[in-house]
Amino acid sequence: MLNDTYRHKGLRKQLAALLKEKGIESAEVLKAIETVPRHLFLNSSFIERAYQDIAFPIGAGQTISRPHTVAFQTELLELKRGDKVLEIGTGSGYQTCVLLEMGVKVFTIERQKELFDKTKIFLPSIGYDTKFFYGDGYKGLPVFAPYDKIIITAGAPSIPEALLEQLKIGGRMVIPLGDKVQIMTLIEKTAGRQFEKTEYGEFKFVPLLENKEWGD
Ligand code: SAH
Repeated sequence: MLNDTYRHKGLRKQLAALLKEKGIESAEVLKAIETVPRHLFLNSSFIERAYQDIAFPIGAGQTISRPHTVAFQTELLELKRGDKVLEIGTGSGYQTCVLLEMGVKVFTIERQKELFDKTKIFLPSIGYDTKFFYGDGYKGLPVFAPYDKIIITAGAPSIPEALLEQLKIGGRMVIPLGDKVQIMTLIEKTAGRQFEKTEYGEFKFVPLLENKEWGD
């Protein structure tokens, strides 16, 4: 792979070990973190720090989440090979690649044109291809619904109704809920209009923005 060295691989192993210490248990998730070359997602000035557990700017005022956050959300989804996954907030595409490494089908939506354009070209260039959509994640993607799993990678003030509808019965949605800080929240759809909610502590995300605020 493009500019991926043994040194980078070594750093990824160390990162996976660190995430294990921080409580990530899934061997598949740790393996995915060990596989996706995170340094290729960052501006070159950050490359030395790509495998520390920190967030970074990715342009358009957005950030690539901390590896721990990516691993935590991925683990909560309890992915099975072949699952159909809807991702809101493509951003750099790093989380998308971690999902793809888990053997699932990913439909990913981004509302920032600049990031959408960049990532839909960049991911295939490093060997990851999937379905990219430019649009408003609040609306989801009804054409391909229902989804086994839905992941939101931006802080949402409330749970978008359309996403609840597009989740399969028995499906899981992982969404950071809140304004200034977010509570990582798991929503399980138990029946047509029935949901179970479990909270998993505080995280920090850039905001999920609604259509009316576009143009920023
Ligand atoms: N998963 C990304 C992190 C993205 S940060 C990564 O691994 O790099 C959150 C992303 O959500 C940003 O790119 C932001 O532009 C996007 N976003 C915010 N509101 C959105 C919306 N309503 N629909 C789709 N994407 C949105």
